[in-house]
Amino acid sequence: MRSEQYVLLEEEFGAHNYKPLDVVLERGKGVWVWDVDGKKYMDCLSAYSAVNQGHCNPSILRAMVEQARKLTLTSRAFRNDQLGLLYKELCELTHSHTVLPMNSGAEAVETALKAVRKWGYMVKGVPEDEAEIIVCRNNFHGRTISIISFSTDPVSTTGFGPFTPGFKVVDFGDATAFEAAITERTVAFLVEPIQGEAGVIIPPEGYLRDIRRMCDEHGLVLILDEIQTGLGRTGTMLAEEHEGIEADLTLIGKALSGGFYPVSAVLSNAEVLGVFKPGEHGSTFGGNPLACAVARAALKVLVEDNLLANAREMGALFIKGLRSIDNPKIKDVRGRGLLLAVEFHTDAGGARQYCKRLKDAGLLCKETHETIIRFAPPLVITREEVEWALERIVPVLSE
Ligand SMILES: *Cc1c(COP(=O)(O)O)cnc(C)c1O
Repeated sequence: MRSEQYVLLEEEFGAHNYKPLDVVLERGKGVWVWDVDGKKYMDCLSAYSAVNQGHCNPSILRAMVEQARKLTLTSRAFRNDQLGLLYKELCELTHSHTVLPMNSGAEAVETALKAVRKWGYMVKGVPEDEAEIIVCRNNFHGRTISIISFSTDPVSTTGFGPFTPGFKVVDFGDATAFEAAITERTVAFLVEPIQGEAGVIIPPEGYLRDIRRMCDEHGLVLILDEIQTGLGRTGTMLAEEHEGIEADLTLIGKALSGGFYPVSAVLSNAEVLGVFKPGEHGSTFGGNPLACAVARAALKVLVEDNLLANAREMGALFIKGLRSIDNPKIKDVRGRGLLLAVEFHTDAGGARQYCKRLKDAGLLCKETHETIIRFAPPLVITREEVEWALERIVPVLSE
């Protein structure tokens, strides 16, 4: 079958909740993917940072196949020989004390929301059903009803009400606004250290330290959603490290499996996860041995292949190349590690046209919010591959 036929099948039989570029991929290796017609592309999206370790990473593949032959799912009604090891390794790598495993990112977010509400009632003494959680404008935390209840993007919310109450929205990057929104009923602040889907928005220097201090002063749980920024993407294991802080709850997902399988987790520094008693929260697939074996291998690759340092070095090279582009239509070039973005002025005719031309030139990326292109290749990218990418990106974005 050819590319057009696969596209037609998707259009005819699938729900249209995505608008993908018309490239039909069948194979991947490292930073490269191939379409059904045999054309090769560099993947500069990495499945929204889920394939930080590169496509079909051989170490993760081996762990997955080996585990799949032995045992895949036990449910948490029984224990398995992978879960405890994943817990320990995750805690050591992220300086956490307690882990709660789930599957998708949205489930990790939901888990954190439930935990901090319960913590608010049991520990902080907030009157039952009155807990408030503060979140940021232009956030992205997933797609469930409760999570979109505090989205500020009308595309995500229109037609999906009624919504879950108990959330307050403040501007991202404005610690004063955050502090002003705190009341006696506030239990937590949920925030991305860098807003990924909003277009790689980096808060002002000191913001994370300020909100950390304010959460301490007001007795709030700081929840950092590191599902996109965590696990090496910004050049450190967690993006919080750039400001030397530690969240109380940290959410990870995406690259926790290197793209092989949905695995997410809530990591706890404080004792917030301790509020869950047996039976109060769970997931059939959460913490299954296949997921744990894959996640253990995915974490090992990050460390043993030095992907954090590589993200810093290759990120510096990549952003230098992007900054050299001379085009008055470009409003801003920004990023940290290998989470990079080029923003165009609103009258530049949109970013999607550039993504289409980059696709024709052999490089896959995706626009976000009409005017922004995010560049986030797998962290295994080499110097030669960054140069290859820039040789295509610079001329296309100069037009
Ligand atoms: C992708 C993402 C999520 C949601 O993860 P899913 O696995 O798609 O549910 C949540 N938060 C952030 C910051 C994300 O980038």
